Amino acid sequence: MGEPFAYFEGNVVPLGDAKVGIMTHALNYGTGCFEGIRGYWVPEDEQVYLFRAREHFERLHRSAHILRMKVRLSPEELTQLACDLVAKSGYREDVYVRPLVYKSAEQVGLSLVRKAEDGSLEDVPDDFFMFTVPFGAYLDLDKPIRVTISPWRRIDDNVIPPRAKVTGLYINSALATSQAKELGFDEAIMLNSDGSVSEGPGENIFMLRDGKLITTGPDSNILEGITRHAVMTLAQEELGIEVVERRIARTELYIADELFFTGTAAQISAIGEVDGRVIGSGEIGPVTARLQKVFFDAVRNRNPKYGDWCAAVYPVSAGVS
Ligand code: PMP
Repeated sequence: MGEPFAYFEGNVVPLGDAKVGIMTHALNYGTGCFEGIRGYWVPEDEQVYLFRAREHFERLHRSAHILRMKVRLSPEELTQLACDLVAKSGYREDVYVRPLVYKSAEQVGLSLVRKAEDGSLEDVPDDFFMFTVPFGAYLDLDKPIRVTISPWRRIDDNVIPPRAKVTGLYINSALATSQAKELGFDEAIMLNSDGSVSEGPGENIFMLRDGKLITTGPDSNILEGITRHAVMTLAQEELGIEVVERRIARTELYIADELFFTGTAAQISAIGEVDGRVIGSGEIGPVTARLQKVFFDAVRNRNPKYGDWCAAVYPVSAGVS
Protein backbone atom coordinates (compact mmCIF):
# COMPACT_ATOMS: atom_id res chain seq x y z
CA MET A 1 0.00 0.00 0.00
CA GLY A 2 1.27 3.45 -0.84
CA GLU A 3 0.23 6.88 0.27
CA PRO A 4 -0.82 9.39 -2.40
CA PHE A 5 1.18 12.57 -2.91
CA ALA A 6 0.73 15.52 -5.24
CA TYR A 7 3.00 18.12 -6.78
CA PHE A 8 1.06 21.33 -6.16
CA GLU A 9 2.12 24.99 -6.37
CA GLY A 10 5.76 23.92 -6.63
CA ASN A 11 5.83 21.53 -3.63
CA VAL A 12 5.24 17.84 -3.02
CA VAL A 13 2.37 17.55 -0.51
CA PRO A 14 -0.04 14.83 0.69
CA LEU A 15 -2.81 14.57 -1.93
CA GLY A 16 -5.47 15.69 0.57
CA ASP A 17 -3.68 19.01 1.12
CA ALA A 18 -3.74 20.01 -2.57
CA LYS A 19 -6.83 22.22 -2.98
CA VAL A 20 -7.85 25.10 -5.28
CA GLY A 21 -10.21 28.02 -4.57
CA ILE A 22 -13.75 28.05 -5.91
CA MET A 23 -13.07 31.07 -8.15
CA THR A 24 -10.32 29.25 -10.05
CA HIS A 25 -10.72 30.00 -13.78
CA ALA A 26 -10.28 26.35 -14.81
CA LEU A 27 -12.94 25.14 -12.38
CA ASN A 28 -15.46 27.65 -13.71
CA TYR A 29 -14.66 27.50 -17.44
CA GLY A 30 -12.96 24.15 -18.03
CA THR A 31 -9.70 25.82 -19.04
CA GLY A 32 -7.19 23.15 -18.20
CA CYS A 33 -5.40 20.48 -20.12
CA PHE A 34 -4.21 17.21 -18.75
CA GLU A 35 -2.71 13.80 -19.33
CA GLY A 36 -3.22 10.31 -17.98
CA ILE A 37 -0.16 8.09 -17.71
CA ARG A 38 -0.17 4.47 -16.62
CA GLY A 39 2.47 2.92 -14.43
CA TYR A 40 2.80 -0.86 -14.53
CA TRP A 41 3.99 -2.69 -11.42
CA VAL A 42 6.27 -5.59 -12.40
CA PRO A 43 6.91 -7.72 -9.29
CA GLU A 44 9.84 -9.67 -10.83
CA ASP A 45 11.70 -6.37 -11.33
CA GLU A 46 10.39 -4.77 -8.10
CA GLN A 47 9.66 -1.89 -10.41
CA VAL A 48 6.92 0.44 -11.65
CA TYR A 49 7.36 1.43 -15.30
CA LEU A 50 5.62 4.59 -16.53
CA PHE A 51 4.48 3.97 -20.09
CA ARG A 52 5.66 6.54 -22.64
CA ALA A 53 5.68 9.31 -20.04
CA ARG A 54 7.84 11.62 -22.17
CA GLU A 55 5.37 11.40 -25.09
CA HIS A 56 2.49 12.22 -22.73
CA PHE A 57 4.35 15.30 -21.47
CA GLU A 58 5.15 16.34 -25.04
CA ARG A 59 1.42 16.18 -25.79
CA LEU A 60 0.75 18.19 -22.61
CA HIS A 61 3.05 20.90 -23.95
CA ARG A 62 1.17 20.93 -27.26
CA SER A 63 -2.25 21.07 -25.55
CA ALA A 64 -1.06 23.92 -23.31
CA HIS A 65 0.22 25.83 -26.33
CA ILE A 66 -3.23 25.67 -27.94
CA LEU A 67 -4.77 27.01 -24.71
CA ARG A 68 -2.20 29.82 -24.40
CA MET A 69 -0.59 28.28 -21.35
CA LYS A 70 3.03 27.54 -20.58
CA VAL A 71 4.44 24.41 -19.03
CA ARG A 72 7.58 25.55 -17.25
CA LEU A 73 9.19 22.12 -16.96
CA SER A 74 10.43 20.19 -20.01
CA PRO A 75 9.00 16.74 -20.89
CA GLU A 76 12.21 15.19 -19.46
CA GLU A 77 11.90 17.14 -16.18
CA LEU A 78 8.22 16.24 -15.94
CA THR A 79 9.01 12.55 -16.48
CA GLN A 80 11.51 12.69 -13.62
CA LEU A 81 8.96 14.48 -11.44
CA ALA A 82 6.34 11.82 -12.21
CA CYS A 83 8.81 9.05 -11.30
CA ASP A 84 9.73 10.85 -8.06
CA LEU A 85 6.07 11.28 -7.12
CA VAL A 86 5.24 7.59 -7.63
CA ALA A 87 8.40 6.60 -5.74
CA LYS A 88 7.53 8.92 -2.84
CA SER A 89 4.06 7.40 -2.69
CA GLY A 90 5.76 4.00 -2.50
CA TYR A 91 3.28 2.19 -4.76
CA ARG A 92 3.85 -1.48 -5.48
CA GLU A 93 0.84 -1.84 -7.77
CA ASP A 94 -0.40 -0.39 -11.08
CA VAL A 95 -0.77 3.38 -10.87
CA TYR A 96 -2.12 6.33 -12.79
CA VAL A 97 -0.36 9.69 -13.01
CA ARG A 98 -2.45 12.78 -13.73
CA PRO A 99 -0.62 16.01 -14.64
CA LEU A 100 -2.79 19.06 -15.28
CA VAL A 101 -1.96 22.59 -16.49
CA TYR A 102 -4.74 25.03 -15.70
CA LYS A 103 -5.75 28.66 -15.67
CA SER A 104 -5.27 29.22 -11.97
CA ALA A 105 -6.29 32.88 -11.68
CA GLU A 106 -9.16 33.39 -9.25
CA GLN A 107 -11.17 35.84 -11.31
CA VAL A 108 -14.51 36.16 -13.07
CA GLY A 109 -14.20 36.46 -16.86
CA LEU A 110 -13.76 33.63 -19.29
CA SER A 111 -11.14 34.97 -21.71
CA LEU A 112 -7.73 33.28 -21.91
CA VAL A 113 -6.14 36.75 -22.03
CA ARG A 114 -6.71 39.81 -19.86
CA LYS A 115 -5.65 43.44 -19.63
CA ALA A 116 -2.35 43.96 -17.84
CA GLU A 117 -1.70 47.00 -15.63
CA ASP A 118 0.03 48.79 -18.52
CA GLY A 119 -3.05 48.29 -20.71
CA SER A 120 -1.54 45.54 -22.91
CA LEU A 121 -3.02 42.05 -23.18
CA GLU A 122 -1.44 39.25 -21.12
CA ASP A 123 -2.27 35.56 -20.77
CA VAL A 124 -4.44 34.77 -17.73
CA PRO A 125 -2.00 33.15 -15.22
CA ASP A 126 -1.73 29.38 -15.14
CA ASP A 127 -0.25 26.73 -12.86
CA PHE A 128 0.53 23.04 -12.93
CA PHE A 129 -0.16 20.10 -10.66
CA MET A 130 0.34 16.37 -10.80
CA PHE A 131 -0.97 13.55 -8.63
CA THR A 132 -0.77 9.79 -8.64
CA VAL A 133 -3.29 7.14 -7.53
CA PRO A 134 -3.54 3.32 -7.74
CA PHE A 135 -5.31 2.22 -10.92
CA GLY A 136 -6.52 -1.16 -12.11
CA ALA A 137 -8.36 -2.19 -15.29
CA TYR A 138 -10.84 0.34 -16.76
CA LEU A 139 -12.62 -1.80 -19.34
CA ASP A 140 -12.71 -5.60 -19.51
CA LEU A 141 -9.54 -7.07 -21.01
CA ASP A 142 -10.45 -10.76 -20.75
CA LYS A 143 -13.73 -10.64 -22.63
CA PRO A 144 -15.06 -8.41 -25.40
CA ILE A 145 -17.14 -5.39 -24.42
CA ARG A 146 -20.54 -4.32 -25.79
CA VAL A 147 -20.76 -0.82 -27.24
CA THR A 148 -23.33 1.45 -28.85
CA ILE A 149 -23.09 4.35 -31.29
CA SER A 150 -23.75 7.47 -29.25
CA PRO A 151 -26.34 10.03 -30.30
CA TRP A 152 -23.88 12.61 -28.90
CA ARG A 153 -21.69 13.81 -31.77
CA ARG A 154 -17.95 14.33 -31.34
CA ILE A 155 -16.93 17.98 -31.06
CA ASP A 156 -15.24 19.46 -34.11
CA ASP A 157 -11.74 20.98 -34.25
CA ASN A 158 -13.35 24.41 -34.65
CA VAL A 159 -15.60 23.90 -31.61
CA ILE A 160 -13.09 22.65 -29.04
CA PRO A 161 -9.85 21.25 -30.48
CA PRO A 162 -9.96 17.48 -29.79
CA ARG A 163 -6.21 17.11 -30.35
CA ALA A 164 -5.71 19.16 -27.19
CA LYS A 165 -6.63 17.15 -24.10
CA VAL A 166 -8.75 19.95 -22.64
CA THR A 167 -10.67 19.40 -19.40
CA GLY A 168 -13.84 21.19 -20.60
CA LEU A 169 -13.94 19.03 -23.73
CA TYR A 170 -14.62 15.97 -21.60
CA ILE A 171 -18.26 17.05 -21.12
CA ASN A 172 -18.72 15.64 -24.62
CA SER A 173 -17.17 12.31 -23.58
CA ALA A 174 -18.99 12.23 -20.23
CA LEU A 175 -22.40 12.65 -21.89
CA ALA A 176 -21.68 9.85 -24.37
CA THR A 177 -20.22 7.33 -21.95
CA SER A 178 -22.84 7.94 -19.24
CA GLN A 179 -25.71 7.43 -21.66
CA ALA A 180 -24.14 4.23 -23.03
CA LYS A 181 -23.80 2.89 -19.47
CA GLU A 182 -27.37 3.88 -18.56
CA LEU A 183 -28.52 1.88 -21.60
CA GLY A 184 -26.58 -1.17 -20.37
CA PHE A 185 -23.55 -0.95 -22.69
CA ASP A 186 -19.92 -0.89 -21.56
CA GLU A 187 -18.89 2.08 -23.69
CA ALA A 188 -19.92 4.41 -26.54
CA ILE A 189 -18.52 5.11 -30.01
CA MET A 190 -18.84 8.71 -31.14
CA LEU A 191 -19.53 9.93 -34.68
CA ASN A 192 -18.43 13.20 -36.26
CA SER A 193 -21.00 15.80 -37.36
CA ASP A 194 -20.84 14.28 -40.89
CA GLY A 195 -21.76 10.82 -39.52
CA SER A 196 -18.33 9.22 -39.93
CA VAL A 197 -16.70 7.42 -37.00
CA SER A 198 -14.53 9.47 -34.66
CA GLU A 199 -13.47 7.46 -31.59
CA GLY A 200 -14.57 6.37 -28.12
CA PRO A 201 -15.12 8.90 -25.30
CA GLY A 202 -11.66 8.11 -23.95
CA GLU A 203 -10.31 5.65 -26.51
CA ASN A 204 -9.15 5.45 -30.11
CA ILE A 205 -10.72 2.78 -32.31
CA PHE A 206 -9.21 0.13 -34.60
CA MET A 207 -10.96 -2.14 -37.06
CA LEU A 208 -9.58 -5.22 -38.83
CA ARG A 209 -10.93 -5.64 -42.37
CA ASP A 210 -9.44 -7.92 -45.04
CA GLY A 211 -6.27 -8.41 -43.01
CA LYS A 212 -5.57 -4.68 -42.66
CA LEU A 213 -5.78 -2.68 -39.47
CA ILE A 214 -7.69 0.55 -40.01
CA THR A 215 -7.97 3.46 -37.60
CA THR A 216 -9.45 6.94 -37.86
CA GLY A 217 -6.96 9.77 -38.35
CA PRO A 218 -6.53 13.35 -37.12
CA ASP A 219 -9.14 14.54 -39.64
CA SER A 220 -11.77 12.59 -37.66
CA ASN A 221 -11.57 14.79 -34.54
CA ILE A 222 -9.64 12.24 -32.52
CA LEU A 223 -7.16 12.68 -29.72
CA GLU A 224 -3.93 11.51 -31.30
CA GLY A 225 -3.48 8.69 -28.80
CA ILE A 226 -0.16 7.47 -27.52
CA THR A 227 -1.46 3.92 -27.11
CA ARG A 228 -2.80 4.21 -30.68
CA HIS A 229 0.70 5.08 -31.87
CA ALA A 230 2.18 2.19 -29.87
CA VAL A 231 -0.36 -0.26 -31.32
CA MET A 232 0.27 0.98 -34.88
CA THR A 233 4.00 0.44 -34.34
CA LEU A 234 3.58 -3.01 -32.77
CA ALA A 235 1.13 -4.16 -35.46
CA GLN A 236 3.58 -3.24 -38.22
CA GLU A 237 6.85 -4.19 -36.53
CA GLU A 238 5.88 -7.27 -34.53
CA LEU A 239 2.90 -8.69 -36.44
CA GLY A 240 3.76 -7.47 -39.96
CA ILE A 241 0.24 -6.13 -40.41
CA GLU A 242 -0.43 -3.13 -42.63
CA VAL A 243 -1.99 -0.18 -40.77
CA VAL A 244 -4.12 2.36 -42.60
CA GLU A 245 -5.35 5.72 -41.25
CA ARG A 246 -8.58 6.73 -42.94
CA ARG A 247 -12.15 7.74 -42.32
CA ILE A 248 -14.45 4.92 -41.21
CA ALA A 249 -18.16 4.73 -42.00
CA ARG A 250 -20.53 3.67 -39.23
CA THR A 251 -21.74 0.47 -40.88
CA GLU A 252 -18.17 -0.67 -41.55
CA LEU A 253 -17.97 -1.19 -37.80
CA TYR A 254 -20.88 -3.65 -37.95
CA ILE A 255 -19.12 -5.83 -40.53
CA ALA A 256 -15.56 -5.58 -39.19
CA ASP A 257 -13.64 -8.83 -38.67
CA GLU A 258 -12.28 -7.46 -35.37
CA LEU A 259 -12.74 -4.24 -33.49
CA PHE A 260 -10.96 -2.84 -30.44
CA PHE A 261 -10.36 0.30 -28.42
CA THR A 262 -6.95 1.59 -27.37
CA GLY A 263 -6.08 4.10 -24.68
CA THR A 264 -4.14 4.63 -21.49
CA ALA A 265 -7.14 3.58 -19.39
CA ALA A 266 -8.61 1.04 -21.84
CA GLN A 267 -5.22 -0.43 -22.92
CA ILE A 268 -6.38 -2.81 -25.69
CA SER A 269 -10.02 -3.68 -25.17
CA ALA A 270 -11.76 -5.97 -27.65
CA ILE A 271 -15.25 -4.98 -28.84
CA GLY A 272 -17.56 -7.97 -29.32
CA GLU A 273 -20.79 -6.21 -30.22
CA VAL A 274 -21.89 -2.87 -31.69
CA ASP A 275 -25.59 -1.96 -31.45
CA GLY A 276 -26.53 -5.64 -31.20
CA ARG A 277 -24.41 -6.73 -34.19
CA VAL A 278 -21.86 -9.37 -33.21
CA ILE A 279 -18.34 -8.51 -34.39
CA GLY A 280 -16.44 -11.43 -35.92
CA SER A 281 -16.90 -14.49 -33.74
CA GLY A 282 -18.00 -12.35 -30.79
CA GLU A 283 -14.85 -13.48 -28.96
CA ILE A 284 -11.50 -11.67 -28.72
CA GLY A 285 -10.18 -11.91 -32.30
CA PRO A 286 -6.80 -13.53 -33.07
CA VAL A 287 -5.12 -10.28 -34.17
CA THR A 288 -6.45 -8.40 -31.12
CA ALA A 289 -5.18 -11.19 -28.86
CA ARG A 290 -1.71 -11.12 -30.45
CA LEU A 291 -1.59 -7.34 -30.13
CA GLN A 292 -2.58 -7.54 -26.47
CA LYS A 293 0.29 -9.99 -25.89
CA VAL A 294 2.97 -7.83 -27.54
CA PHE A 295 1.53 -4.69 -25.95
CA PHE A 296 1.60 -6.09 -22.41
CA ASP A 297 5.16 -7.36 -22.99
CA ALA A 298 6.21 -3.88 -24.11
CA VAL A 299 4.55 -1.96 -21.25
CA ARG A 300 6.15 -4.29 -18.70
CA ASN A 301 9.59 -3.73 -20.23
CA ARG A 302 9.73 -7.31 -21.51
CA ASN A 303 10.78 -6.36 -25.05
CA PRO A 304 14.14 -4.54 -25.16
CA LYS A 305 13.21 -3.06 -28.55
CA TYR A 306 10.72 -0.84 -26.75
CA GLY A 307 12.75 -0.26 -23.59
CA ASP A 308 12.64 3.50 -24.11
CA TRP A 309 8.84 3.37 -23.72
CA CYS A 310 9.29 2.41 -20.05
CA ALA A 311 10.52 4.90 -17.43
CA ALA A 312 11.65 3.08 -14.27
CA VAL A 313 10.34 4.71 -11.09
CA TYR A 314 12.54 3.03 -8.49
CA PRO A 315 16.35 2.98 -8.55
CA VAL A 316 17.39 0.13 -10.84
CA SER A 317 19.06 -2.56 -8.70
CA ALA A 318 22.11 -4.51 -9.87
CA GLY A 319 21.33 -7.30 -12.29
CA VAL A 320 17.98 -5.87 -13.36
CA SER A 321 17.99 -4.33 -16.79
N1 PMP B 1 -9.30 9.61 -27.21
C1 PMP B 1 -9.69 10.29 -26.12
C2 PMP B 1 -10.83 11.23 -26.24
C3 PMP B 1 -9.03 10.11 -24.89
O1 PMP B 1 -9.42 10.77 -23.80
C4 PMP B 1 -7.98 9.18 -24.82
C5 PMP B 1 -7.29 8.93 -23.49
N2 PMP B 1 -6.25 9.82 -23.25
C6 PMP B 1 -7.60 8.50 -25.98
C7 PMP B 1 -8.28 8.74 -27.16
C8 PMP B 1 -6.43 7.56 -25.97
O2 PMP B 1 -5.24 8.28 -25.88
P1 PMP B 1 -3.95 7.68 -25.15
O3 PMP B 1 -3.66 6.39 -25.78
O4 PMP B 1 -2.89 8.69 -25.38
O5 PMP B 1 -4.32 7.54 -23.71
